[in-house]
Amino acid sequence: MTAPARPRTSEQLIRAEEPVLAHNYHPLPVVVARAEGSWVEDVEGNRYLDMLAGYSALNFGHRHPALVEAAHRQLDRLTLTSRAFHNDRLAEFAERLAELTGMDMVLPMNTGAEAVESGIKVARKWAYDVKGVPEGRATIVVAAENFHGRTTTIVGFSTDETARAGFGPFTPGFKVVPYNDLAALEAAVDDTTAAVLIEPVQGEAGVIVPDDGYLAGVRELTRRAGCLFVADEIQSGLGRTGRTLAVEHEDVLPDVLLLGKALGGGIVPVSAVVARREVLGVLRPGEHGSTFGGNPLAAAVGTAVVELLETGEFQRRAAELGVVLRDGLADLVGRGVTGFRARGLWAGVDVEPALGTGREISERLMREGVLVKDTHGSTIRLAPPLTITTEELRSALGALEKVLV
Ligand SMILES: *Cc1c(COP(=O)(O)O)cnc(C)c1O
Repeated sequence: MTAPARPRTSEQLIRAEEPVLAHNYHPLPVVVARAEGSWVEDVEGNRYLDMLAGYSALNFGHRHPALVEAAHRQLDRLTLTSRAFHNDRLAEFAERLAELTGMDMVLPMNTGAEAVESGIKVARKWAYDVKGVPEGRATIVVAAENFHGRTTTIVGFSTDETARAGFGPFTPGFKVVPYNDLAALEAAVDDTTAAVLIEPVQGEAGVIVPDDGYLAGVRELTRRAGCLFVADEIQSGLGRTGRTLAVEHEDVLPDVLLLGKALGGGIVPVSAVVARREVLGVLRPGEHGSTFGGNPLAAAVGTAVVELLETGEFQRRAAELGVVLRDGLADLVGRGVTGFRARGLWAGVDVEPALGTGREISERLMREGVLVKDTHGSTIRLAPPLTITTEELRSALGALEKVLV
């Protein structure tokens, strides 16, 4: 009999990762052991307010009771069938997700990158089968500074050298144009264009909110050009911006929506391509698939997520608390903050470079009990759970003021 392992400290656990974990991340030096709502607790029992929320995968906070209950109930009954057979949870998930988003059909996948890959395949198939683009010629127009995931095809049309360099050769058929530039988009679209693929708000780029009229312009332009508008709402969707979808801010409905992150309720990876029947209907049996996509556990959790969003409560909270966030940040402009962009409960904050890098500010905030993530250079990103209280949000803004002023 070996003695039970002594619990290890945060420092020991961080050191233990070094030789055995691939170094593709540089996490803040906090080792989380448990969490509830907006709060996480480290191995030593220190508590932190989670102002990142798993890059919006935790829109409903950690372990939302309704989501945990749905998962528990399903765990006790059926977890996986593969799509070789039907399962009794998938129809309801697809019906309610389509209804929530104003679409007709759902293709369930797991991660965000898979939803993007699937969206690309569907758009190309549509271009050949419906639009009549000559085989092998379909193009997809994307925006500079995009973030759509980490597969080889997706990083191939990234403009971030760190994400791309060393991973080629890449999939052809993509054209990159500046974001928020309708004239450039218009010039790039032609008879071979299957789709325009953009984020309605560019998250990883630093929460870049396009000018009013851009999304409506993309809708109008793609309709006129006879190509698809594919909106990657993996981070911007499902309540984050104060609406179910960020495209609702301009009252537009794309042809294809890519969803992920919060769709899994912070419990399991759940993503989906959601589209009109004329588009998703192009897929025939055997042409696409996923062993785990649409599994009953994912469908049960995903249905519970849709049920939370059907109430409108989280979208409303994001809109209302978004005002508190925006006011708080406006108050810091000129006092350590050089500028910020916000939509709903989501902000990219540019910090005075003399005060430190985004990473250094994040480490200082961590010591104040607030967890955030830097993006490029001196920008930090705030995306708290939509369940955060006004007091908690104000305390996070207070901690930001303390480390900056
Ligand atoms: C996170 C993200 C993805 C990729 O999702 P993964 O689940 O990490 O593969 C794609 N698009 C956007 C906009 C994202 O924010």
